[in-house]
Parts: sequence; structure tokens; C-alpha cells
Amino acid sequence: MAIIGDSGAMRLIAFFGILLTLLVLETIWPRRQRVRASLERLSTNVLLTVFNGFVMKLAASFIVPIAAVAAAAYVESKGWGLFNLLALPSMLELVVSLVLLDLAIYGQHVAAHYVPMLWQFHKVHHSDVEFDVTTALRFHPIEIFISMLWKITLVFILGPSVFAVILFEIILNGCAMFNHSNLKLSPRLDKFVRLFLATPDMHRIHHSIIPKELNTNYGFSISLWDRLFRTYT
Ligand SMILES: [Zn+2]
Repeated sequence: MAIIGDSGAMRLIAFFGILLTLLVLETIWPRRQRVRASLERLSTNVLLTVFNGFVMKLAASFIVPIAAVAAAAYVESKGWGLFNLLALPSMLELVVSLVLLDLAIYGQHVAAHYVPMLWQFHKVHHSDVEFDVTTALRFHPIEIFISMLWKITLVFILGPSVFAVILFEIILNGCAMFNHSNLKLSPRLDKFVRLFLATPDMHRIHHSIIPKELNTNYGFSISLWDRLFRTYT
């Protein structure tokens, strides 16, 4: 776990170290005379690098959920999936869809801890030395991809509406950012909220390095699953 965290830091140090060294060296010993002011170019390039990193993050956060939404539209048009066969009242179907999708994400999270191949990717999320809202964005691209495939599989089996999938993604994302946040809730408020949702105090335990705590409090949204499957601390 520490190695993953260290390698990230090492990459950053190496990147900035080499960049700064070369910037100094090429200023002292320029091969060609500059046509344009170097500071202007420097700021452009650095901004572009930051922007590229940001675009990658955005792609991971938005395009991936869209894939599940597109799958839902396709499945709906074909009339496939459990809900398209059952034809439940739409409100009931929406609630059941959200609950089942959340249960499936809980299951995926447990599997990410117990299946060594999946843990290889999931530990990137756990290797964060800090715990704040940005931790909720910190996932290995392959884990994001696996999660996308899992959601698409569920969409094909369940056949939830497009709206249900969009709402689910928004809730999941919002809850993940909430329970990873470095936000202080009063004990009373925390106690009340965690009756329904995983709170930051609840999820922080999941980010412990002690295995007994690490392998508990898997829920990202609904807090019921951990109590039901006895993974609650
Ligand atoms: Zn985890």
C-alpha cells in the first residue's frame, strides 16, 4: 500500500525535479535563441499539463457513467431486463432500481477487498495518506473500467430506466464525495444521518490500515448493507 503511495510521490518529485533542472540548464546554455518570451510559453505548457490531468479526471468521472446510461437506453429500447418484463409502477421500479444498484456496488466493493486481482487496483484508492473529498476521485483507471463493465452487466440484467441510472450515478458520486470529505458533523447529526447513509466518520474507519477496520463499512450510499451483512464498525 505504501509503495503505491510512494511511487506516486516519487513520480511527482522526479517529474518536477527533472523539469526544473532542465528549465535552469536550457536557460544557462540555450541551444537556440528564443523567438518568444519563455515565461509565457512556460505558463501555457504547465497549464496544459494541469488541464490534461483534469480532462482525464473528468473523462473518468463523466464518460464512464454515460456508458451505463447508454446501456440503459439500449436495453430499454430492446425491452430486455427484469424491470421491462415485470412492468412495476414507475415509482416503485425507480426505488427498487436504486436500492439494487447500490447493493451491487456494495458487493463490488467487498469483492475489491477480497479478490487479490481486484485489490491490486482498489488499493490505489486506499493508499491516499490524507482523507478528503479528493480521495473520492482517486481510483485506478482499470478499477473505474471494471466498475463500468459491472454496471453495464447489471443494466442488462435489471433493465432499469435511463433516469434511474442517471440518478443512481449522481447519488453514488455525491455520497462518495460526502463520506470521503473531511467534514465535521456533530455526533447527534452523524448518528441520525448514518441511520440512512454512510457518513464521513463511518467511512473513515474503512480507510484504516488495521485490517479489522479496513474490511468493514464498505457502503458508499445506503448504510443498511453493512449492518445487514455484519460488516459494520
Ligand atoms: Zn475500500
